[in-house]
Amino acid sequence: MNLLGIDIGGTKTAVCIGHADGKILYSKRIPTTSESVEAYRHQLIELCHHVVEKANLRPEDLDGIGISAPGPLDCKRGVLIAPPNNPGWKDVPIQAMVQKTFKAPVFVNNDANACALAELLFGAYRGVRSLVYLTFSTGMGGGIIVNGQLIQGVTDTGGEVGHHVLDPEGPLCGCGQRGCWEAYVGGRNVAEQLKAKIKAGNISTSIVNKAGGLDKINLQAFEAAAREGDRFALAEWDIFTDRLAQGVGNLIMILNPEVILMGTIGIHAGDFVMGPILDKLPKYAWEWPRRACKVVPSSLGGKIGELSALAVAATGLKPSGG
Ligand SMILES: [Zn+2]
Repeated sequence: MNLLGIDIGGTKTAVCIGHADGKILYSKRIPTTSESVEAYRHQLIELCHHVVEKANLRPEDLDGIGISAPGPLDCKRGVLIAPPNNPGWKDVPIQAMVQKTFKAPVFVNNDANACALAELLFGAYRGVRSLVYLTFSTGMGGGIIVNGQLIQGVTDTGGEVGHHVLDPEGPLCGCGQRGCWEAYVGGRNVAEQLKAKIKAGNISTSIVNKAGGLDKINLQAFEAAAREGDRFALAEWDIFTDRLAQGVGNLIMILNPEVILMGTIGIHAGDFVMGPILDKLPKYAWEWPRRACKVVPSSLGGKIGELSALAVAATGLKPSGG
């Protein structure tokens, strides 16, 4: 089965050709332009044709096309409602844009759901019946698989774990609620809160130097300073990993999953983040569901983007998931 995968990220779009077993034949990336939708459509279709040709295939050889894109989106209509990194884009009919050119059916899902499907189909834990995939970048997202099926929900917002509220009196989230999980552990929110604390307390911390300035503070600088033993960074890292553990614990208690996979920060920070999360989990989840759940970094690493788009295609063609 020849599948075309389109992974639309905030800054880059990757297109690949692969098979239903996750083998990638050819892949290429271009910057995701924030210009007009029409200009992007043109570039994207050209890239799709290029990738098909490079894999020695013809467009009619494709069996299915999968698109993994940032939410919020309407999966049934295949529309990107308002991609966060492309402010000019609104209600982009991405599925129709691609379907106009190719005969093979086009399927769309949000990036976190797509990553959960990729772990289910191609990852180290493939074969499990229940897993959760979590991604922590500027914001945070999740994808939930129960009994081998993705939890899509009636409005495609199933798995939006980043916006379950940990404290209604907590910091304001980009979504408008207070105290969402993302408000405590999403990259943009963490950076903003660190900045505010450093400014208000006139705190001396190596986070600022590592980032190259107060305004450039990010998760990487935060982690690097904490690793080196910076006192402020370490104390904040303790708070940060406690909030991570709180959300993970909630998922364990609600879903009783076999595996929880942490993308991005789990991959980059490894034991430095996973260790404290596991240490703090007993505060938030009972022992037996906790012991039955492996909380580990994503098993697909840097290849997960392309694989997530292939997983959307493979699952769309075989919706039973098994
Ligand atoms: Zn929120």
